[in-house]
Amino acid sequence: MEDLLLKAEKLTIAGQLAAGVAHEIRNPMASIKGFVQLLKASHINNEKYCEIVLTEIERINMIVNEFLYLAKPEVYQYEMHNCIAILEEVITLLDSQANMNNVQFIKNFNENLPLFECEKNQLKQVFINIIKNAIEVMPLGGNIQIIITSKEDYVYFKFIDDGPGIPKERLAHLGEPFYTTKEKGTGLGLMITRKIIEEHNGSIVFSSEINQGTIVDISLPIFQEQQVDKSKLQNSTIA
Ligand code: ADP
Ligand code: MG
Repeated sequence: MEDLLLKAEKLTIAGQLAAGVAHEIRNPMASIKGFVQLLKASHINNEKYCEIVLTEIERINMIVNEFLYLAKPEVYQYEMHNCIAILEEVITLLDSQANMNNVQFIKNFNENLPLFECEKNQLKQVFINIIKNAIEVMPLGGNIQIIITSKEDYVYFKFIDDGPGIPKERLAHLGEPFYTTKEKGTGLGLMITRKIIEEHNGSIVFSSEINQGTIVDISLPIFQEQQVDKSKLQNSTIA
């Protein structure tokens, strides 16, 4: 019974997502169509139209890419990893974007951190999404403090920015698909983040103070229970 309910709920979420994607893609598509029609009709001064068309195509690309990430059948590899090494890789990846916004990283890593069991690429995706959000809300510079600690069976990651903060009424919407306050945002980053953290049996909490900044607290168990390889599960259902 519970299984059926859960399945029904998942289907509803899938349906909502599909409707959301259709809507999000239809808008830039309509705009592309209109501007290409204009391009076809006029031979002069079409640089502006081309720019709009390219921007809209880029937007569709971003949305589709993020969804591909959700849908693609992954072979999950849960292995023991060093959390500092994973974070350093992510910081290297985002360093130039941080530099462009004048954002500094303040690293506060406990030296005796244990290895912990995770799907490395997925965890990298989580840290990329969180840190990118912090960089994006501080276009005029700021700090991102990253603290990693460990206690008993958990590792704890804390990301503190001194950006504009998130109003209380908005905190509840974080992680809802397509919830974004950015002109060029997809509103998918935190939904994917939540999903990955959930799959790792961890938790994520946002706290924020307007004009002071935002804190993201993530806790993850050091050892995962027996993981089900979801891609294999799917294949075996089909076969
Ligand atoms: P996107 O980044 O594409 O907007 P996300 O799901 O990553 O989508 O984030 C959703 C929204 O959450 C953002 O548009 C922003 O309003 C808010 N947000 C997330 N992180 C922060 C942060 N560190 N400071 C302020 N607002 C944030
Ligand atoms: Mg984001």
